Amino acid sequence: MSLGEFDIIARYFARKSGRSDVLLGVGDDAAVLDTHAGRKLVVAMDTVVEGVHFPPETDAADIGYRALAVNLSDIAAMGAEPAWMTLSLSLPRASEQWLNGFAGGLFELADDYKVALVGGDTVRGPLVITVQIAGWVESDAWLTRSGARPGDLLFVSGIPGEAAAGLAVIQRRILGGEAAAFLRHRFLRPRPRIELGRQLRTVATAAMDVSDGLLTDLKKLCAASGVGAQLNVDLLPESAAMRELFEAEDGLQYALAGGDDYELLFTLPADRAAAVVSSLQLQQRVTQIGVITADTDVVCLRNGQPFRIKRAGYDHFAAGQ
Ligand code: ADP
Ligand code: MG
Repeated sequence: MSLGEFDIIARYFARKSGRSDVLLGVGDDAAVLDTHAGRKLVVAMDTVVEGVHFPPETDAADIGYRALAVNLSDIAAMGAEPAWMTLSLSLPRASEQWLNGFAGGLFELADDYKVALVGGDTVRGPLVITVQIAGWVESDAWLTRSGARPGDLLFVSGIPGEAAAGLAVIQRRILGGEAAAFLRHRFLRPRPRIELGRQLRTVATAAMDVSDGLLTDLKKLCAASGVGAQLNVDLLPESAAMRELFEAEDGLQYALAGGDDYELLFTLPADRAAAVVSSLQLQQRVTQIGVITADTDVVCLRNGQPFRIKRAGYDHFAAGQ
């Protein structure tokens, strides 16, 4: 049976949100949402394209989960609480099995963070998914990329590189039991660091999420803040799964230049960093990996010596990507 546009929306996406601030959701010409005085609305959008952001054979549930996760990661990087999303879905065909899986993955993560799907658009075309996400911060304290100051300590959550290693495992069909499965999962199901972002909101001087590669994204944070950084490669957290399946040098390349981690990169004032870190309630590790400097260079050090990597990070429009 083939599904029409109306059936797709009604069957898979018009769903009770359970949020009292959704006054009008899917089904009308637009959504109406309740806002609150004093809160500041935080809005972000990310698109994922088959063959660019995920391999064509990716399971529909993973695509749905990931399309929301990459957006929630931006909300996390702002220190905001997520609330609502809209979904633009371009589909080559209306397969019930695919839609079932996709909606299952999307709502699995949406339910974890009580995010309501309040509208969207459904068209036929290449497989392209855009999610727009909105949330809020309670006061005039939100995280930016631009607040890092010389002397601040530089931290990253989780283990950078595992997602890129996971993509390599998928693309090269690397067999490797549990370690391979773990890394695949890190690529397919990135866990947005919402809880960490919420705790950093009033204490971090700067934050961003790592989507294009640690070094490339660090350069963006430094440029926004008008500072530089020394990243100490020896401090990067080691991944047991990566060590099992990849050479150390490849692992380092993934950690510094691989994208898709969706971890948080953030800075803390040096005199308060230790107290802040020990007060955090963490679901993943955070590691100090460097320091912010007054000059505007971003340098990697290994054993105290300058260290250069082969490829810097992902840029959709750079030559040779
Ligand atoms: P219109 O033509 O007036 O824009 P649509 O037929 O595109 O209306 O959409 C009808 C309703 O379904 C709207 O509320 C829209 O927000 C919602 N909608 C359409 N596609 C999606 C989707 N993929 N996810 C969630 N809501 C959707
Ligand atoms: Mg429409």
